[in-house]
Parts: sequence; C-alpha cells; structure tokens
Amino acid sequence: MSNEESMTLAMIKAAKALEEAFRSNIELAKAFTRRIKNLSEVLEKKYGTGFKFKIMDFCGTHEWTITHFGIRSLIPPSIELVAGPGCPVCVTPSYFIEEAIKLSLDGVIVYTYGDVYKLRSIRSIKGANSLSDAKALGGSVRVVPSIISAIRDARSHGKEAIFLGIGFETISSGYAQAILQEMIPPNLTLMSLVKLTPPAMFHSIDILREKPTESPIMGVIAPGHVSTITGAKAWAPVSENYGIPVVVSGFEPIDVLASIVEILRQLSRGEAKTVIEYTRAVSWHGDLVAQSMIAKVFETVDDAWRGIGFLPKSGLRLRREYAKYDAFREYKLEDLIPEKWKYDLPPGCRCAEVIIGKAKPIQCPLFMKKCSPNTPIGPCMVSIEGTCSIWARFGAGGLADDIAKSLDLFKNFSNK
Ligand code: SF4
Repeated sequence: MSNEESMTLAMIKAAKALEEAFRSNIELAKAFTRRIKNLSEVLEKKYGTGFKFKIMDFCGTHEWTITHFGIRSLIPPSIELVAGPGCPVCVTPSYFIEEAIKLSLDGVIVYTYGDVYKLRSIRSIKGANSLSDAKALGGSVRVVPSIISAIRDARSHGKEAIFLGIGFETISSGYAQAILQEMIPPNLTLMSLVKLTPPAMFHSIDILREKPTESPIMGVIAPGHVSTITGAKAWAPVSENYGIPVVVSGFEPIDVLASIVEILRQLSRGEAKTVIEYTRAVSWHGDLVAQSMIAKVFETVDDAWRGIGFLPKSGLRLRREYAKYDAFREYKLEDLIPEKWKYDLPPGCRCAEVIIGKAKPIQCPLFMKKCSPNTPIGPCMVSIEGTCSIWARFGAGGLADDIAKSLDLFKNFSNK
C-alpha cells in the first residue's frame, strides 16, 4: 500500500470514529443546538433581525468537521460559519511550486506531501503545471507523509534532494527538531515555506471590516492543532485588539458546537475573550520546548500568501546558522519579494475570497463545473483541507439532513 493510500485509509477510519462519537453524543448535541438557538434569539434582539453573526472557523480540519457533519444545518440561519485561511497548501504561492518543478526537471529529487503533488502552478515550466506533471515528464518527485520519511529515503540513495516544507506552526517544530538533532543528511535540504496563522486571521478580519457591505467576523473558532504549539495566547490579540470572542476548539462535532455556544454566550454579554475549549490538548502558553526550537532554527519574515500577497511577519525561513540545510541557499533560489509577487490565481478562481471568508465556494462560477476534486483549477480544490474541496466532497451529501432529522431540528427553522 502506498503512503498516500495508507493516509487516506487512516483518514477514513478517523472520520468513522468521529461520526460514531458524534452519534453517541446525540443528547449533548441536542442540548448545544438548543442553547445556540436560544442565544441566537437573544442576539437578534440585541443586534436586530437580519443581522448575520459571521463566525470564522480558521482551520481546514474544522471546516471538514462542520461540512461533513452538517453543522450548518443544525444552527439558525442568522449564524454564518465561514471557512478561513487554514489550508497551507491553498496559500502557498505558485512561484515556489514552479521553482520546485524546475529543480525536479533538473534531476534534484523533490519530496512533497500528497496534496502539494497535484497543486497547479500558474505558469508552465517546460510543459509542467504541477509536480505531478513534472514527474510524468521525467522529473524526480517523491510523495512522502513526513520529513522523517524523506530523511530515510534521502539517506538510502545519497542523491541531491529537497523537501518542500509546506505547513503551519504545527509542522515547523518537526522541521526544527530534525535540524537541531542533525537528522538531515548532507544530500537533503529544506525549502521552508512555513506560514504563521495569526497574521492571516488579522488580515481576514481587517478586509471584512473595511467593506460596510460585508458582514464582519463576530467570532473565531481558532485552530486546535496550531494552538498545541503556539498556545491559545497567540489568538489573544484577536479578542484584545479587535474585541472578537475566540475559542480554541477541538475537532469533534461536539467541540465545534460547544465553541459556537461559547462565542454566542460572550457576544450576548458583550464580552471578548480568548478561551480554550480544546483543553485536552491546548494550554494558554503552548509547547514551550517546540516554540524554543522553532525560534532557534527559523526567523520570521514577511511572506506571500497565494492570491493575497504579502502579510507582515507571516512566514518562517531558516536562519543563517542553518544555511547548510537551506534549499534556497543551496540552489541559489530567489525568495519572493513584494515587488516581484504577481497575482497567482487562475482566471475566474475566487480562492482569494474563499480563504478570507468573503465568498463561499458555491459563489465561484467554476465550482463543480470546470473545477472539481478530479479536475482542480484553483488551489482550494486540491488539498483535503481546501474549502472548495471539502464543499465539493461533502457539502451536497445527505449526512447533514440525516443528522438534522435525527435531532428533530427541522421543526425549529421555517426555512429548512
Ligand atoms: Fe478556485 Fe475552484 Fe474554488 Fe473556484 S471552485 S474558487 S476555481 S478552487
């Protein structure tokens, strides 16, 4: 069984376990949905009928839970759950994929995660628009589930290789550990494309606040995985500077419902705090050992986000002390700078708006017409954490109605 197949199998098993957990917690789910309905009525009185309470679920895994389990069908229409920029593959600029394609066609082995393999570049490199195209054209591309697998493989053959280090804070501690423990062989270097999540959250809030025609973000379901490393404190500026309630949430449907209750409770009382629902994994200060390793190995840079452009202090690159592990230095690759960044989404693709909660996938004219999981055009349709991919795979399924019926919720909403 290939790595990709075993990862898919593991995800299917995890999804089944989640579904069973949700169904076995049906009474709790009913209690939460009743509380959400009551709080939304309180809020409608406070803000006026027709006001939309936009809550951003930052992380792709939260969006998966919300869509797969039909959470939107369990809550009143006044509460709008929108996905955020929490898919690292979706926000990796096309430029870096193009550089990786070039290297692979020049004979350097490129190790990559499965979803990056199919990510399409905006410019064609010798006929290749993705690493998968490059491989078909004879390029050296290998799909791996982690940097550890790349290290093992690179040691076994001794040929020149790079690891495409795409991810958020969670994954960066693994890269830092591999470097500090000198696990990386001399023939392997890292192209660090790690992104930091809070700056993207601030950007989304700012953009939606700028336009009076847009519903502002009123609450944030903050990412659980990232927060195990950063601690919930990373999200405190959202509540302190913007006055928006934040809940660091777990990934089971019950976690998400509990987090929505907490956000609405805070809004009803005029509070704005950052709280942890996912207490079984997240603390306020996070993993201090991981944070120290990351700070030692990486420096923070202004970084480009696909379709969006540069966000201040939103990326990690290797420090000079670790230059021997740095693919940028080894292959004299130029990093992107604001003057060189060009809008990098295909014509018609609305990923730039989808990832900041400004548009829904179904508002893109290409959604499930020209762009589908089998024929992705934009980056949000490629990764399993991409909002368009999640909506395409689960949004139209019958599971949402199934759960809503079993909770006897349709009677609560005249429009359902
Ligand atoms: Fe982009 Fe495809 Fe999503 Fe449209 S449906 S926004 S083209 S990824």
